[in-house]
Amino acid sequence: MIYADNAATTPLDRDAFEAMCPFLLEYYGNASQPYSFSVAGKKALKQARKTIAHRIGALPEEIYFTSGGTESDNWAIKGIMAGSHGSMITSQIEHHAVLHACNAMERLGVRVEYLPADRNCMVQPEALKERITQNTRLVSVMMANNEVGSVQPIAELSRIAHENGALFHTDAVQAVGHMETDVNYLEIDMLSASAHKFNGPKGIGFLYIRKGTAIQPYADGGAQEAGLRAGTENVASIVAMAVALEKNCEHMQENQIRLRKLEQIMEDRLRVENIDFIRNGNRGIPGNISLSIRGAEGEMLLHRLDLKKIYVSTGSACDSKNTEISHVIKAMKVPDEYAEGTIRVSFGAGNTEEDAADIARALAEIMNGMK
Ligand code: PLP
Repeated sequence: MIYADNAATTPLDRDAFEAMCPFLLEYYGNASQPYSFSVAGKKALKQARKTIAHRIGALPEEIYFTSGGTESDNWAIKGIMAGSHGSMITSQIEHHAVLHACNAMERLGVRVEYLPADRNCMVQPEALKERITQNTRLVSVMMANNEVGSVQPIAELSRIAHENGALFHTDAVQAVGHMETDVNYLEIDMLSASAHKFNGPKGIGFLYIRKGTAIQPYADGGAQEAGLRAGTENVASIVAMAVALEKNCEHMQENQIRLRKLEQIMEDRLRVENIDFIRNGNRGIPGNISLSIRGAEGEMLLHRLDLKKIYVSTGSACDSKNTEISHVIKAMKVPDEYAEGTIRVSFGAGNTEEDAADIARALAEIMNGMK
């Protein structure tokens, strides 16, 4: 089989898996208890927080563990906007974790503006400049789009937000572990990340919150995560997340070069096979290839590839039950005759050059069979 849906989720790294086992089987004590049996868990939590902070240029006390990207996005938006008299700005190409959290704020009376994206799925800083006002409390724009991989001009967007007295949040779920991410260089106030997108376990992630940011707690209860996100710490998963992030960051450059090569092989092969397609996005996140094939239907391609044991996606995993054209493809204004035939191939650590060529060949077979 060929698994090429790494933007939806990645396999767990073996070292990360092995790092979690002792905290499930031996050192299972509640890390918040004061006795010596909990010391191993406490120490591991402290080290993981330090490792993760270091990798994004943050301080350890600015890392708050959550259950993943969805919770981190919800916390950043609701924690700033709920009860606020200000407005906020986001973009039309965000993940539903951001868009639906914004919709929830709108139901509470918060005014939310949605910035458009261009044909390359890029949010233009000029558009933010035009719409931001002194009443804007928060700007939230993703670092890299999950459907087409486009990387956004975060440094410029955050500068505009700050010049106008607003906070800046970025959903960096597709970026962390795959491209350099420095919260100080990019002047980010809050950043969401999720371990299962960089070969860590599912159900664990973090929200970076810059020291001094006035944010409401996400969950009330115990004193964990400085009293802002209560709940017994998931030590095993947190430790594994740190190992996975460290490993991905250490090998980032070589991974990027390898994934770019797979992209190229697949694109070249599709051209040799005379497939009429558009490659969407700005070639941002390495290994993420969104293709819109003329005259095809994304859902049909996905099922035919599935029969060949090739696993790709029509876009966001969360959209896979929805046969409509995704909000991102619509926002980019992909021409109608191509838009319906959109699929996302996202390569990862397990993929080979043969996989890239085989996927292109399989697509050609399917398309030729339709003629
Ligand atoms: N944000 C983006 C950009 C994503 O790609 C995803 C997952 O698909 C999420 C948020 C949600 O993350 P999680 O699955 O950890 O809740």
